[in-house]
Amino acid sequence: ATPTAVMVGTGVGASQGVLIKGGQALEFAHKASCIVFDKTGTLTVGKPVVVNVKLMDTIVLEELLELTAATEVNSEHPIAKAIVEYAKQFKEDNPIWPEAQEFISIPGHGVEAIVRNKKVVVGNKSLMMNNGIEILGETESFLVDAEGMAKTAVLVAVDRTVSGVIVVSDPLKPGAKEVISILKSMEVKSIMVTGDNWGTANSIAKEVGIETVIAEAKPQQKAEEVKNLQTAGHTVAMVGDGINDSPALVAADVGMAIGAGTDIAIEAADIVLMKNDLQDVITAIHLSRRTFARIR
Ligand code: ADP
Ligand code: MG
Repeated sequence: ATPTAVMVGTGVGASQGVLIKGGQALEFAHKASCIVFDKTGTLTVGKPVVVNVKLMDTIVLEELLELTAATEVNSEHPIAKAIVEYAKQFKEDNPIWPEAQEFISIPGHGVEAIVRNKKVVVGNKSLMMNNGIEILGETESFLVDAEGMAKTAVLVAVDRTVSGVIVVSDPLKPGAKEVISILKSMEVKSIMVTGDNWGTANSIAKEVGIETVIAEAKPQQKAEEVKNLQTAGHTVAMVGDGINDSPALVAADVGMAIGAGTDIAIEAADIVLMKNDLQDVITAIHLSRRTFARIR
């Protein structure tokens, strides 16, 4: 393609809310033989809501939610925001949470703090296991059920006992399923990579029509997966929105960031989807094809 054609291509992209940072991104987009999608905030809306709370111990609901919210209010994670929002309903009169001491956030796992002299641990199963907190059979089967319904179950341990499970739901973005099916018809393979657990990841993948899933992936593992696909001969596009996606966005031949995503992801990407519409993954491929494949 001529420099003029590339300028026209990027100009048309910009007018449609697809920001292409340079000729190489425009060139590679239509060569992608596989696209790696992040789950949370990319395939899903990214605004989880609490749909269910199960008490596993003698603790009362108000106390469980108060201890959990006091801990999560220090976290930026979408799950944390959902939990704090939910807990507020039970605390109309006094919207101030007790102080959390020694707060720590373990990316990809959850949060911990001391609230009212109680050790509060909020997060996934591996966080509990790393803390040596026992998960009973009853809790385990509750988790499996929630995950089978594409929900994420967040465990809350108070003083080393799992006292409750907070179930959050983050639905698929409208149109996500259609985009995956169009890509399939274009012979582009879709893969999902997520930090979320295998059960939830597999359920969401099934809903959206993706066959290949990598779950419980740390940010570096997401990038490794991109590199493995490249080694196997694929030209790889990656679509993501989070800080945890930025190494993979950089590693990919074409990194695409959701416009509503974090600044770090937007910076790491070659293409920014300003309308937050997954359909624009296909817009970018079409633009690339028109610019580079027609003119020979
Ligand atoms: P994703 O790749 O889906 O955006 P993350 O890597 O951010 O997920 O987190 C993976 C998992 O760790 C979450 O699904 C959740 O179970 C747990 N987790 C992470 N942060 C928190 C938090 N602040 N509160 C509760 N659970 C958390
Ligand atoms: Mg995400």
